[in-house]
Amino acid sequence: MLRTVIAATATLGLAVGCAPETSAPVKVSALVLNSNGEYAPQDVELKTVTDIVSLNGTVADFRGGARIVFDSEDQDLQTATTPEAFVNALLKEEGHDVTASYINQDGVLWPADFHTWNMVTAYYNLERAFDYFQTVGNIPAADFKKPVTTYYFPEFILADVDKDPLLDNALYFSVMESFLVLPFDQLQRAPLAINAGIIAHEYSHRIFNLKVYGGQPFPEALSLWAASGSSPGANVLKSFDEGLADYHAYGTTCRATKGCDAKFFSTSFHDAPYDQIARDRDLSRSDRCMTEALRTQLRNQSLNEFSGKEYLVGTLLASALYQAGEGQGQREVLLRAIVAAYNDSDPKTPGLLQLSQQYINDQDKFTLAVAAGAIITHVTDLKLKEAVCNELMDHLQIPRDLLVGTSNPNLCPASSAPGTTCPRLPAE
Ligand SMILES: [Zn+2]
Repeated sequence: MLRTVIAATATLGLAVGCAPETSAPVKVSALVLNSNGEYAPQDVELKTVTDIVSLNGTVADFRGGARIVFDSEDQDLQTATTPEAFVNALLKEEGHDVTASYINQDGVLWPADFHTWNMVTAYYNLERAFDYFQTVGNIPAADFKKPVTTYYFPEFILADVDKDPLLDNALYFSVMESFLVLPFDQLQRAPLAINAGIIAHEYSHRIFNLKVYGGQPFPEALSLWAASGSSPGANVLKSFDEGLADYHAYGTTCRATKGCDAKFFSTSFHDAPYDQIARDRDLSRSDRCMTEALRTQLRNQSLNEFSGKEYLVGTLLASALYQAGEGQGQREVLLRAIVAAYNDSDPKTPGLLQLSQQYINDQDKFTLAVAAGAIITHVTDLKLKEAVCNELMDHLQIPRDLLVGTSNPNLCPASSAPGTTCPRLPAE
């Protein structure tokens, strides 16, 4: 059904749309959140696109009409031994180039149909996230690797969970090194592809994978650690991946028309029951605290059992970092330090990749304190470092003595003391 819709759009595009000769930058109209909090057409420039009709460029390559099925009973999947074979087993239909359709209005390309609005806006949002990580994150262009295949409105089936295709989601699927922009059903107010913050969140997962997991489709630390009964190390990695994706997404909003928006989920997750997600992930709330129950679950549950709680721990981390960065007026300095903390081979300031490798055979040692330490050692400004330390000790309840007075002089300064927002938890 969904593929029929795409096919019909593609045909329409060929029939009535123009196929403009283009080279970057291309002026297009996209749906951008304005200062009134509404998504409205805005003239923007796409700087990385090489083919505006098939939406192919150095940042992303769009594909329509794909069918991706994850079924643990699938013979092809069970016999796959390489990442390539695994991808081939998942991809039941490869799909095809999309065909966007425009009307040229005084040199600005106006999308001629809904899917073109949705796709052009999604490409623009991906390009903004790429630009953020290049400039604020200080990541060299070569590190981004090839354009990310972006499956637009694929049929995505997780057969073990539901025989029907998933809807209302956008994700980075590391196994396929791809973005998936799924069809929407309930979230019609602001489809996820149009929500720049949500696309930036997904783009952040791509960067985390490239840097912390060395670009592995099946990250070694996660796979190895998830295989044991309790997986504290894997739970910490997942929590950092989610929390830092939210904080970076917030960072990208500060460079957009509307300005810094800690509630960027709310335009998409506007109506019940989704509005709860927006409230839960609002980074500007300063009253969130690690609980004894959550700390125990992080420590003792398997990655499967812990599923869903990585967002709770992630939000604690993200809102603590938010408080420190805003409080010191050093948001971008902190965001850049976080990216630097992903991968650093200097033994004095090891990155998350190096720390997870160091403890690969003993994940109990890859604790919240150790992972937080990677961020702290990459903050060089002492006032900001102290603020980050105080917020993390408070909201994540990381014991002060694990971050101060250790043998590592790059951790927290002696003046650090936990804030007093959260009740102090008893020692583990
Ligand atoms: Zn996520």
